Amino acid sequence: MDLSYQEIKFLPGVGPKRADLLEKELGIKSVDDLLRHYPYKYVDRSRFYSLHEIAEDMPFIQVKGQILKFEKTGEGKSERLTAIFTDGAETIELLWFKGAKYIAENYRTGVDYVVFGKPTVFNRKFNIVHPEIELASKMPPPELMGLQPFYNTSEKMKNSFLNSKTIQKIIYPLVQNIKSGIPDTLPSYILQKYALYNLTDSLVNIHFPKNADTLNKARQRLKFEELFYIQLSILRLKNWRDEQSKGFIFSKIGHFFNTFFKDYLPFELTGAQKRVIREIRADVASGRQMNRLLQGDVGSGKTLVALMVMFMAVDNGFQACIMAPTEILANQHLVSMNEFLGDIGLNVALLTGSTRPKDRVILHEKLRSGQINILIGTHALIEDTVQFKNLGLVVIDEQHRFGVEQRAKLWRKNVQPPHVLVMTATPIPRTLAMTLYGDLSVSVIDELPPGRKPIQTYHYYDTKRPTLNAFIAKQIEIGRQVYIVYPLIQESEKMDLQNLEEGFEYMREVFPNYKISMVHGKLKPAEKDHQMQKFVLGETQIMLATTVIEVGVNVPNASVMIIESAQRFGLSQLHQLRGRVGRGAEQSFCILLTGYKLGAETRKRMEIMVRTNDGFEISEADLQIRGPGDMEGTQQSGTPFELKIANLALDGKMLEIARNTVMEILEDDPKLEKIENRVMEVQLKKLKTNNINWGSIS
Ligand code: ADP
Ligand code: MG
Repeated sequence: MDLSYQEIKFLPGVGPKRADLLEKELGIKSVDDLLRHYPYKYVDRSRFYSLHEIAEDMPFIQVKGQILKFEKTGEGKSERLTAIFTDGAETIELLWFKGAKYIAENYRTGVDYVVFGKPTVFNRKFNIVHPEIELASKMPPPELMGLQPFYNTSEKMKNSFLNSKTIQKIIYPLVQNIKSGIPDTLPSYILQKYALYNLTDSLVNIHFPKNADTLNKARQRLKFEELFYIQLSILRLKNWRDEQSKGFIFSKIGHFFNTFFKDYLPFELTGAQKRVIREIRADVASGRQMNRLLQGDVGSGKTLVALMVMFMAVDNGFQACIMAPTEILANQHLVSMNEFLGDIGLNVALLTGSTRPKDRVILHEKLRSGQINILIGTHALIEDTVQFKNLGLVVIDEQHRFGVEQRAKLWRKNVQPPHVLVMTATPIPRTLAMTLYGDLSVSVIDELPPGRKPIQTYHYYDTKRPTLNAFIAKQIEIGRQVYIVYPLIQESEKMDLQNLEEGFEYMREVFPNYKISMVHGKLKPAEKDHQMQKFVLGETQIMLATTVIEVGVNVPNASVMIIESAQRFGLSQLHQLRGRVGRGAEQSFCILLTGYKLGAETRKRMEIMVRTNDGFEISEADLQIRGPGDMEGTQQSGTPFELKIANLALDGKMLEIARNTVMEILEDDPKLEKIENRVMEVQLKKLKTNNINWGSIS
């Protein structure tokens, strides 16, 4: 019996019109889809409450008792009917703002009713507005009622009377039908190992749970199944890729790597940097193509790791490139690499949107002839006209800024795909990483270079501006520099936010003796560069900017980051911005400015920023606050999996178990050929044609 082929239009209560609606609105085509349309909440009808238990913030409840009397007040639109209801001990009011006539005619005093609804406080008394009322004698006993499911619907569906109740009525007979048992989608040895419900019991209890315990077991099983199959699809893709894509072999550690390490490296590598370099080295020497994600908090020294890996490429006769999301950042990579490299004798070039056509022609030629060893650039690298002689390694910096498509394009820059190292300073929680980048290997730099003082973060209200100005003056007097970031360039009528232009006027007035740089997205690249450069060289003391300086910018002497209208920014963006300071040996500060009126969520964000400097902790908090769909850093690539029941913020532990289980299975039976594993192959195929957006998987 394969439910995925059974059409729904012939089901009782459905018909062609509703079938059409169900498909268009919820993507439900088959009986299987219907059974997998899980309720989003349940209401407990498994017991009667006593009126003395009633409290504020209760969900739907049911009580049993009699109506003592009716009272009608008002006329026409302000008509209202009140019934005084008692359970024998206490009373509560039932309220109707319409339909009074119908109620008065159909219900009477002195009869046992079951009343069902959500208690609210009105006129300082508890009441239930528009309750459901049933004759107690006609109701099944509560033990048989259990938890009542509620289903998601859309406005359009409701207009065709396809509300939650109707869906419940459509699903009820289906559930009765499968009670005799349907084939499972997980092998029985897994069900046994983790003591999971089988599919039949899970579907029965997810729709019509006997009690909270059976519901919980059903949910556990269905969540596990969901996470299991996502991991299975990701890890099979990874296996397939590992098998298919042969990689260049960087077999030797050669001249440039060794010379740099011995004679040029200005400091000790951190333990984490060394470990990560070893992990990468193992990849690039393995004969398989590397696809590795390098995560490391801002300032943890990823650029240097990238550079060392590029030496490996060059020492083995290959070219390497690094792609950055902004021109500022690409420029800065050029500067810092040239500083690192000194006279070591490598040919490094820059290619961005503002490289002049004349220079481009020469550059293209040098890339094709192999004269250039390392190319640094922006999106301009991706253009088809850019061709290499022998590209062996692609590094993508601040990868969350790029779409998946752009990454894929870089892969095709050589007949055989180059090794790929993607770097991100937007730490993402482990659970999300396992899902979004589950097919990549992951390295983490979890250690900052020594001697860094933790940044001190404060949340100030706008009213403290005079104090803040005094603080800025003091920092500049002792030789430091200051960033001020604005959410807007110009004043906006729609939003009450600070803006760069007015900020500039204001700062010029307050600090007539200091010089100010100003950088934003509307400036021409050359002008942006000029402004940046003045700040880098210390000619200007204050840098006013929009978030263009969010990533990568490195001015160690800058010790203060002020973020105007900080409520406008998400947690990971705030963390990125903060990461612009604390790069030198001096104590650094981050000041978050907001107005006094703040929502609860914003207040929480500010608190987290003040409390911790740890990017991973911040990203976890972000996930908890906003949910996986809205996480920064995932918007661009989008979350490829739409989860029906599992929740990446809450089910991290289960996800880990699912992933490990899948790994064990694939190790033992990579092609899923064993008879007990055949079911997985079938289920995978089904999922593939359904709801997973494969195009967006890295
Ligand atoms: P990010 O990981 O944010 O890209 P960077 O690579 O820009 O960090 O490094 C931040 C700063 O730390 C740079 O000035 C870099 O030269 C310096 N740095 C990197 N590694 C070390 C180290 N092991 N010891 C001291 N300073 C280091
Ligand atoms: Mg960086």
